[in-house]
Parts: sequence; C-alpha cells; structure tokens
Amino acid sequence: MKKIKLLATIIIATTVVFAHKQPKNVVFIIGDGMGLAHIYAGMVANGNKLQLERFKTIGFSKTYSSNNFTTDSGAGGTAIACGVKTKNGMIGMSPDSVAVESILEVADKNGLSTGMVTACDITHATPASFIAHQVSRKMAEDIATDFLKTDIDVFIGGGRNNFEKRSDNRNISNELKEKGYTIAYTLDEVKKNKTGKVAGLLYDVHPAYVPERGEMLPEATIAAIDILENNKNGFFMMIEGSQIDWAAHENNAEQIAAEVLDLDKTIGKVLDFAEKNKNTLVIVTADHETGGLTMPKGNIANNELTASFSTKDHSGIPVPVFAFGPGAECFTGFMENTSFKNKLIKLLKLKN
Ligand code: MG
Ligand code: ZN
Repeated sequence: MKKIKLLATIIIATTVVFAHKQPKNVVFIIGDGMGLAHIYAGMVANGNKLQLERFKTIGFSKTYSSNNFTTDSGAGGTAIACGVKTKNGMIGMSPDSVAVESILEVADKNGLSTGMVTACDITHATPASFIAHQVSRKMAEDIATDFLKTDIDVFIGGGRNNFEKRSDNRNISNELKEKGYTIAYTLDEVKKNKTGKVAGLLYDVHPAYVPERGEMLPEATIAAIDILENNKNGFFMMIEGSQIDWAAHENNAEQIAAEVLDLDKTIGKVLDFAEKNKNTLVIVTADHETGGLTMPKGNIANNELTASFSTKDHSGIPVPVFAFGPGAECFTGFMENTSFKNKLIKLLKLKN
C-alpha cells in the first residue's frame, strides 16, 4: 500500500515537472529597440520601480538576422512572428522571398481570435511581420492590402493613409467594411465595440511621442482585450511599444525612459488581466537593441542618470525576454529569436 502511494506521488511529481501547463491566450509584447539599458532608464526615471519587475521568468533572445550581425525591425519581427531568420528589410518571408506563416496567422487558422495594437503606423515593420508577406518593409500600401488576407479581429494603431490615400486609389477601409469590420478613427469609437471585428486607424501616419500621445497604447490594449477575450478558443495578440526605438535612434535618453514607461504601464494592465484570467501567457521582449545604450553614472535617489550611446543605429547584442503565466518556463536561458513561434504553437497545441 505504501509502495503504491509512493509510486503515485512520483508520477504526479514527474507530470508537474515535465508537462507544461497549456495557456489559452498569448499576449506577445515587443518593445522596439528595448534593451536592458532602456528598461533601466525607465526604472531609474520612475523611482527605481517598474511593472516589469512582476516577471520572475527571464531569458535572452539572440537577434542577428540571416545577412547581418545587427537586425532591422523587419527581419527582427519576422524572426519572432514567423520563426525564420531573414534578410534585413524583409517582411514575413524567408531570405529567398518565400512567404512564411506567422504565429498570428496560425492562431487565426486554428480558430483563436487575433489582434494587434501598436504605437505607430500599423503597417510599420514590426506589426507587418505578423500579418504581411512582402520583400520590403517600405511597401506600406501592399502591407495594408495584406490585412484583407487574414481574419484578424482587432487592430489598432496609425497608418490610415496607407489604407485610404493610396497610389492605386483603392480604399482598403471600405474593403475591410465589406469583410465585416467596423472602421474606427478614434479610441472612443473603438471602445464602443465589445464584439465583432474592429480596425482602429487612429492616425493618418504615426501617433506622436508620449506625453502628446496620451494613454493611447494602454487604453487601446484594454479595448482590444475586451473584444478578444470573448472567444472560448482563446486569443493571440501582439502589442508594440514602437517609439522606444525612435527615441534611441535620436539618442534621446529622456524620451526613451518616457516610452519605456508608457509600455510598462501597458504591461501592468496586461499582467492584471493575466493574473485574474490565469490562462494567459504574457511575453515581453524586443526585436533588437537600439543606440548601444549604457549609463556609466546616475543617482537613484534623484531619478537621474547619465546616458552614453555607442551608435545612432541598432546594435547586435541580445535582448531580455520576460515571461509570465502558463508555459512561461519555456522562455528562459539564451534563445534564438526564431524559437518563439514553434514554442507558442506547441504550448497552444495549434495545428501548423
Ligand atoms: Mg517597430
Ligand atoms: Zn530602429
């Protein structure tokens, strides 16, 4: 009797250790250009604390592309979304220009709801990598057209001109309407929708930097989750803090901290949802580091730091990965940026 009990205990213990808990929802958050130094800039500016500290499972992502030590956001986003290293500038394709399905497209095919929220033009390189397949990130109008080819439920960002003021005179917003989408031009219009498909095209091109942008990113995130969480099959969503990268290209440490804090506030809202929901895996990472940022001096008590940049472009160093919720343990240690897609497919038990 004792022996049987012991055996049962061992079997249960082994199952707990080796079987990953299955998430129902995945929220994938990308801070464009957000290296460890950018995170720390935000933390110091914020009285030495961040929502990001709620994550206990942490790793690193290797960001090099197929043809460069230092990736751009096209190849970086494609590696994360589609699981392939590609050439800088390419979107959702292997280096030989063959389209590769993204995790968002696989989730959609498997009956999950899908969404994207970005603090930039929704056709920009990072969101484009999850939905479009084009040889160049510069083909913004073609990327907008690719939104018609999926059943993405909610997308919110800028870039209205690429849908409505186009060189081919097509109006992609009207075509989306025919597919059943509500087109929303303000966040308030987005928030009126609790179900159905919503295209939130809030700006002609890009939203402004914070603080001018206001609470756009955290509020759009909550509005999107409100719609996506209705699907009993679960959802996959990508959120991008887009302008950390732009502030870093300008070597503007103060703006980097402000953009990190805007994303961190958004992360806090997502973690609040995930803690309550219990079935949601949250991942935070970056596509690459921007600016080669370090801070040789600072004063924690005064929220001050001295920033030192080594480039006005991206750098090649690995970026942090934070994971929370069921399956988080799969995202520790050093990993390739191409490993996210297949890990998520396995965890969500999707058919590829
Ligand atoms: Mg980006
Ligand atoms: Zn950049």
